[in-house]
Amino acid sequence: MKSQFIVLSRILIFAGALFLFGRGGVPALAAGAPAPVSPAISYSAVHVDGPFIAMTFDDGPNEKLTPELLDILADRRLHATFFVVGENAEAHPEILQRAVREGHEIGNHSWTHPAFAKMRDESVRRELQKTDDAIRTAIGTRPVLMRPPYGSITSRQKQWIYSEFGYRIILWDVDPLDWKRPGPAVVTSRIVRGARPGSIILSHDIHPGTIKAMPAAFDQLLAKGFKFVTVSELIAMGKPMAPQDADATSATPSAAPAVSPTPGLTNP
Ligand SMILES: [Zn+2]
Repeated sequence: MKSQFIVLSRILIFAGALFLFGRGGVPALAAGAPAPVSPAISYSAVHVDGPFIAMTFDDGPNEKLTPELLDILADRRLHATFFVVGENAEAHPEILQRAVREGHEIGNHSWTHPAFAKMRDESVRRELQKTDDAIRTAIGTRPVLMRPPYGSITSRQKQWIYSEFGYRIILWDVDPLDWKRPGPAVVTSRIVRGARPGSIILSHDIHPGTIKAMPAAFDQLLAKGFKFVTVSELIAMGKPMAPQDADATSATPSAAPAVSPTPGLTNP
């Protein structure tokens, strides 16, 4: 009787895991978090079948560095995702236009780069709307992705932002801490060592050392067989997760830090 109960409860746990992780996404707050809503609205990585990764660059566009990065990407025919700060997007719509023309994706990274978690809804809404408008003015379409500055966002904010703006909330699972400017070689090696199939890799196209790190990072990732896609393409490839993968997920190092980098250092 007792063993029947154990078998039954294992089946229930298995079914529960399928339910929790069967939506293609890796919930950003996987470990011990309540069941994610359907569809998954927040991602720090995506469970995919092949060696696909998404490089993401935040806080630009930067007048000098972003075009350099676009050249480096174009040389290798790689696609990336740019989470732009609205003020910069408004100042350099031509850089956004070029990025889109060359196959990259643009996401919303707020207007002035504040930490959302402690802000009033009205202020967050204004930050997102102004940036949404600037992106639409520049490239003619609205973004479908949003990355909160510093990864700072509450579950409640994720819900209303998704329902009002339709944004998927994009965090990351590989963080080279390039904003601390550790030197290009360190940035390269952190990215190359951290990348896994389905990874969303964080970097910033406002630091010269980050741009210098990219040729080697891209070439080493390519040599390992990784294929570069935009975040929306990665999400579209999402596969249901097997229970053992679900375990592995909760063991992954913490995805997005709730609190982060010193604003003074990272703010563009
Ligand atoms: Zn940022």
